[in-house]
Amino acid sequence: MDTVTFTADEAEDGAGTGARAVRNPATGEVLGSVPDTTPGQLDAAVRRAVEAQRGWAALAPGERARLLRRFADQVEVHVPELAGLEVTEAGHTIGNATWEAGNVRDLLEYAAGGVERLTGRQIPVAGGLDVTFHEPVGVVGVIAPWNFPMPVAAWGFAPALAAGNAVLLKPAEATPLTALRLAELALAAGLPEGLFQVVPGAGPVTGRALVDHPAVRKIVFTGSTEVGKEVAARCAARAKRVTLELGGKSPSIVFADADLEGAADPMSFLDNSGQDCCARSRILVQREAYDDFLALLLPAVERIRTGDPADPRTALGPLISAEQVRRVASYVTPELPVLARGTVPDGPGSWYPPTVLAPTREDVPAVTEEIFGPVAVVLPFTDEADALRLANATRYGLSGSIWTRDLGRALRMARGVAAGNLSVNSHASVRYWTPFGGFGESGVGRELGPEALAHFTETKNVFIRTEE
Ligand code: NAD
Repeated sequence: MDTVTFTADEAEDGAGTGARAVRNPATGEVLGSVPDTTPGQLDAAVRRAVEAQRGWAALAPGERARLLRRFADQVEVHVPELAGLEVTEAGHTIGNATWEAGNVRDLLEYAAGGVERLTGRQIPVAGGLDVTFHEPVGVVGVIAPWNFPMPVAAWGFAPALAAGNAVLLKPAEATPLTALRLAELALAAGLPEGLFQVVPGAGPVTGRALVDHPAVRKIVFTGSTEVGKEVAARCAARAKRVTLELGGKSPSIVFADADLEGAADPMSFLDNSGQDCCARSRILVQREAYDDFLALLLPAVERIRTGDPADPRTALGPLISAEQVRRVASYVTPELPVLARGTVPDGPGSWYPPTVLAPTREDVPAVTEEIFGPVAVVLPFTDEADALRLANATRYGLSGSIWTRDLGRALRMARGVAAGNLSVNSHASVRYWTPFGGFGESGVGRELGPEALAHFTETKNVFIRTEE
């Protein structure tokens, strides 16, 4: 923590000072402040990135891979420190934060493994030879959210670097500390100066400037659907490549024949205090199993251990901010029947109790909008057609779970649900070696998986005439 370049002397939100306070959401305590990137600093950072990228792309692929593995080794050595930062600035439980830091290491190793396999093709043509090259796009801007500051940033920067690009990472206002530390670890690993830089600052100022900068050739944005649409429009105006990972309102569809105990795992919507784009926050249960399912889910929700995220026994930490608590509370309107409500610690910090609602209408915001907090709605359904109708009654399409012991039904449902990442008899969504991304307003493009590096390249086709 002492090596992170931020100061602990700013008491407030940095208004007018050009520095932004970073708070511990579990206590409200100010951890320090991080200066915003000025427009001049951003421009200089882009110029350094352009310079560094040329040398990086010219390295032998094996050398790039070796340096990325050394970056992964640096992360590995610093997993406890990075996890500690995530606990204090984002309120993640220590178990999750440790997994997240390890995930950054895994992403770097996986990306390093792809460097030498980023091959083009030879395509049969008459009268010559036709070959394709995957060339780096140049400088990539990665704009990250606060809910998974480390792994989501690495989904962008690891493959982007591996494919021969330079990266400017704009972390969320609330969570810049792990990003700053990762950039230091990249330098310690021997990555060239300027290749991976962090540009903290306000979304509407620094984020916009990054999106608008003509020398930044691709943007990877992860965040809310509303901001994502603006980012996409700005990129379109500049014919800039863009990948969007946006919000979700993912269903968990539970049939009466399912393993109800597995399906009723409350962490399916409570992990990371529900601040998870893949949270299964719409629980759809077949009517015959509705009472049995609730008899498993509701006591489990009320038993969830909430509190100090640094305590390994804690399952549910705080929300990121007081503003987020107000936002979550605004969806839990008085007319909605509350089936279960857990407890939260007394005292300071940003807390919201785990809550299960049973709305009687399908058109209320608690059912249609992403709450991004520890709140789920439960709705009954009759048959497969009714389940599909409910599951797809959303503008989002990120993830979902299907719980049944009938393989045919599982496959019919998996084909029918309009979402990018579905799990059968599981609540897991993300693996760095499988593709991830959204349908509908949950995003554009894919990250992770075997094609991760190719998403950060331009394909160039070259025809060589061989006939006289
Ligand atoms: P947000 O949209 O408020 O901010 C995301 C990032 O964009 C931040 O770094 C922010 O500073 C920046 N930003 C804000 N305004 C900007 C602008 N006008 N131009 C450029 N950048 C701007 O989102 P958030 O509240 O930080 O994150 C939560 C959201 O992220 C949720 O909706 C969640 O579902 C989504 N999310 C999606 C995925 C996914 O993979 N689909 C993963 C994690 C989070």
